[in-house]
Amino acid sequence: MEELFDGVKEFSNQEFEQNKLLFQKLSKKQSPHTLFISCSDSRVVPNLITKSVPGDLFIIRNIANIVPPYRKSSEYLSTTSAIEYAVIVLKVKNIVVCGHSNCGGCSALYAENELLNTIPHTKKWLELAKPAKEKVEKLKAQFNYDSTDWLLEQENIVLQISHLLSYPFIKEQYKNKSLNIYGWYYDIENGIVYNYNKSKKIFERIE
Ligand SMILES: [Zn+2]
Repeated sequence: MEELFDGVKEFSNQEFEQNKLLFQKLSKKQSPHTLFISCSDSRVVPNLITKSVPGDLFIIRNIANIVPPYRKSSEYLSTTSAIEYAVIVLKVKNIVVCGHSNCGGCSALYAENELLNTIPHTKKWLELAKPAKEKVEKLKAQFNYDSTDWLLEQENIVLQISHLLSYPFIKEQYKNKSLNIYGWYYDIENGIVYNYNKSKKIFERIE
């Protein structure tokens, strides 16, 4: 923990001082252009991989970058309320659903019940990614893949994009082209990000 305290001191004395004008501007209001939905995984750092600065991205992070389908509820809906706020109040222009390689959330879909029963809320949450697993199982039988971790991680991104379109205010803006939706796949080992091509239905390297 000591290193985090030291990091804060260094930030206040260096980065903050060097970027005072930006922080001054940001102290009054935020107007992020993009809602970035990624996994909570410690290795996924949205501002780092996009070289963006404070104020650019409104970020939602949860296990396996999941978007719960739209519903009205009296429960406390964390992800749904953040999406609602970003699109309706902040009026973001883009939404990125960013999955990644070696995703523990996705691989937990194959975990034994013995483990999953010790993390019941996670188990429940991951139900929202199950259709991606079912699709991968079908593709697996068809194409004889060795490893399908990457496929599940990518299919999960596509699934979560479809969930985004169940939000009436997103669907409407997406249809009239005032809101863009992207699916990204971050390959941690190689430092590469792939962008989903919706018409070709494949992920293409951003280069
Ligand atoms: Zn993950």
